[in-house]
Amino acid sequence: MKFADLGLSAETLRAVTEAGYDTPTPIQQQAISPVLMMKDIIGIAQTGTGKTASFVLPMIDILAEGRSRARMPRSLILEPTRELAAQVAENFEKYGKYHKLSMALLIGGVSMGDQIKALEKGVDVLIATPGRLMDLFERGKIMLNGCSLLVIDEADRMLDMGFIPDIESICTKLPANRQTLLFSATMPPPIKKLADKFLTNPKYIEV
Ligand code: AMP
Repeated sequence: MKFADLGLSAETLRAVTEAGYDTPTPIQQQAISPVLMMKDIIGIAQTGTGKTASFVLPMIDILAEGRSRARMPRSLILEPTRELAAQVAENFEKYGKYHKLSMALLIGGVSMGDQIKALEKGVDVLIATPGRLMDLFERGKIMLNGCSLLVIDEADRMLDMGFIPDIESICTKLPANRQTLLFSATMPPPIKKLADKFLTNPKYIEV
C-alpha cells in the first residue's frame, strides 16, 4: 500500500514525500482512511511505529477547511509529557507546511502569557498536557465546546501519571458528537473503561 492510496490531499502527500517516507507503516495503513472518514479509533501501538503521523496527517486534511475562533480550539491532542507534546507540534509543522493551520502548545513549566495570546488568536490544533489545559480552562481562557476532534495519546502513560481524572473532566467539556482517537501501547482495564465511556463505535487497530 502507498501513501497515495489513503485519501490524503496532494499537499499533505507532497509534505510526506519531502519528509522522505515512501511506504506507510502498518498503523498508518490502518488508521489514516478511517480517521479521514471521521471514525473513532483505538490504536494499540508503541512509540516508534509511526503512530504520530497516523493521526497528524489526516487531521491536517480534516482541519484544512474551516476557521478557528478566539479561545475555541477546533481540535485537541492530549500528551502526557512536554517532550511528547513538542514532538507532535514538530510533526504538524513538518507535514502541515502546505496548509495554513494555526497551532498552540500548552505545556507546564513555561509562562502562560504567550499561550493565552495564542489562544486569543484562535487555534486549529491545540496540543496540551492535561494539567496546564485544566489550569487555563479554570481561568476561563479556553472554551472546549468548539472542539470536534480529540486525540488521547499514550493513554497508558497518562494512567501511570495519574491524569485519568483530568482526561475524564476534559472529555465532558467537549461536544458529545466529536471524533475521538485513543492511542496506547497497552490496554489496562482503566483505559478500556475510559474508551468505553468516551469513544463511539471505535475501530480497533493493533500493530
Ligand atoms: P512515532 O511512532 O510517531 O514516534 O514515529 C517514529 C519515527 O518514525 C519518527 O521519527 C518518524 O519520523 C518516523 N516515521 C513515521 N512514519 C514513517 C514512514 N511511513 N516511513 C518511515 N519513517 C516514518
